[in-house]
This record gives sequence, C-alpha cells and structure tokens, in this order.
Amino acid sequence: MKNVIYQLLELQQLELGITKFEGDTKKEIQRLRNLIPPQVIGHYDRMMAKGKKGVSVVRHKVCTECHMALASGIYAKLVRGDDIVICDTCGRYLIYLPEDQPEPETDQTPVIEAVKSQSKLNSDQKEKPKRKKKATKPIG
Ligand SMILES: [Zn+2]
Repeated sequence: MKNVIYQLLELQQLELGITKFEGDTKKEIQRLRNLIPPQVIGHYDRMMAKGKKGVSVVRHKVCTECHMALASGIYAKLVRGDDIVICDTCGRYLIYLPEDQPEPETDQTPVIEAVKSQSKLNSDQKEKPKRKKKATKPIG
C-alpha cells in the first residue's frame, strides 16, 4: 500500500511541475493515475481542486502542509508503511520519506564536539603551550 502513496507524490510533483519528467509528462501522469486506486485519486483530486496539495510529507512527526504534530499512533502507522495514512487535521495523504529525515541532532552533536575539543586540546598542547586554557567553552 505504501507504493500507492509514493506514486501519488510522484503524480503530485508532476502535476505541480515540481519535478520534470523526461518525456511525455501527460502520459506519465496518466500512467500513474492508472496505477493508483480510484478512491485514492478521488480524494487527491478533491484536495487539489481546493488548491491544496493532496499529499503532505511528514518531517519531525509534523505534517508539513498544516504544521500539526501527528499523534504517535498515526506516526507509527505511517513509518511502518503498511497502510495509507491521512492527516487528522488537514485530511491530506501523509508520506514518510526515510531518506528525507534530517540526522537526529541529539545523537550526533556530543560526539562531534568531543572529537573537536580533543583534537583542539592536542594541537594546543603540542604547538602553543602558553597560557592555561579553560576547559569549559564560553556559553552564550
Ligand atoms: Zn496536515
């Protein structure tokens, strides 16, 4: 079922001219429309008719179209990808793109900081052992 949403997003990108298709765009749109179940297309078309996107990408557990946070149950369902999920608030189809999710900052930052300060400390000791440096970094 997840594939349907990917196809729907592709369709939306083509129809909105966000992605360019090498070849006959109209044919590709028709091909995608034939692949997607009619009831899904129907809902999508109703959204598009209102000038809204039919598909919304989810980032940080938030619907990027209406900016509302998703309930954790809905988000979990979305990540599992075994069913089509619709935003509770705006009614758009939701899509979760794993490759689109930014790196989790909380896990990365301490490691980078530790490596940085360590190499800085080393070079400081080797090259200029002048004044005592405070180990703590300036805050603010
Ligand atoms: Zn929404």
